[in-house]
Amino acid sequence: MTSRRDFLRQSSLAMTAAWLASRNALAQTSASQTAAPTPAPAAAQTAPPANTNPAVQPNPNLLQQLEAAAANETIKTTKLTDTIFLLQGVGGNIVCQIGPDGKLIIDSGMAAGTPHLLDALGKLDPHPIRLLVNTHWHPDHTDGNAALHLAGAFIIAQDNTRIRLAAPQYMAVYDLHINAAPDAALPQDTFPDTETLWVNNDEESLMHTPDAHTDSDIFIQFHKGNVIHTGDLWFNGMYPLIDLSSGGTINGMIRGVDQVLALADDQTKIVPGHGPLGEKTALQTYRTMLVTVADRVEKLKAQGETVEQAIAARPTADLDAVWAKGPIKPDTFVALVYDSL
Ligand SMILES: [Zn+2]
Repeated sequence: MTSRRDFLRQSSLAMTAAWLASRNALAQTSASQTAAPTPAPAAAQTAPPANTNPAVQPNPNLLQQLEAAAANETIKTTKLTDTIFLLQGVGGNIVCQIGPDGKLIIDSGMAAGTPHLLDALGKLDPHPIRLLVNTHWHPDHTDGNAALHLAGAFIIAQDNTRIRLAAPQYMAVYDLHINAAPDAALPQDTFPDTETLWVNNDEESLMHTPDAHTDSDIFIQFHKGNVIHTGDLWFNGMYPLIDLSSGGTINGMIRGVDQVLALADDQTKIVPGHGPLGEKTALQTYRTMLVTVADRVEKLKAQGETVEQAIAARPTADLDAVWAKGPIKPDTFVALVYDSL
């Protein structure tokens, strides 16, 4: 059986924990600069009971690493269509659609990387920043919200993204408390299920997938452009994070992926939340992995195995060579799946 120490070492979630720590520090800085009293309750009052999930990997020392990474990041720009671009830096994947209505941006990355993002956006075309859509509340997708709002973006997201950004959050997987975001970072328009935009001579569908990676996830389909941004429903080529503290579940992830697959064709360019640009076949392969792990862990749980015993049984052993390359290690993923079933 894997010792707890081995487990914790294996489940180092360096990059993701680091951005969260960075965002936390930035929120604290922002809060200290705000004169008005904050009505939000102290994090200590809302903290859930001590975490017993063996997938916890607290690592507050990664803050400086991530801030340095974002401050010095290089944004890689990939042209998906004549008007839609993929921008990749330290945070989640960002998409920008350009056109006569101005820039429509999906996700805002890390605040520390915003100068680099603005620089990359400015090179796409001369039109101003108009709209920002958040795929979900996580800081590596929303930390740059305030800066993009100040640069002209009207922010749109699912209801729960605003609710979670507006209040202190706790992520059990990292045993991490996250402060409320500043007002400038909050979406100005939210919706519960679906929203349609008609921007830059295209139709953009924003669709909520309940209880998936979080309870705030949407994916965005550009109909004419035939591009879909999945948000963190998809970690391309990696085990995904499922944020149970934010209402995420493995079965919701699978349902969300199925929604995307139902809308994609063989030509659709599919942008994951993390990892390289993908397409339908790769998303189907990922879906098979999710279902396989869910079935195996469910069986172990039904047999009465504890989460530690389920991890020790190594239900992902034959999958790890392909899927364990990202920040979410096999034992962490098994624990998250187990606890969400
Ligand atoms: Zn996320």
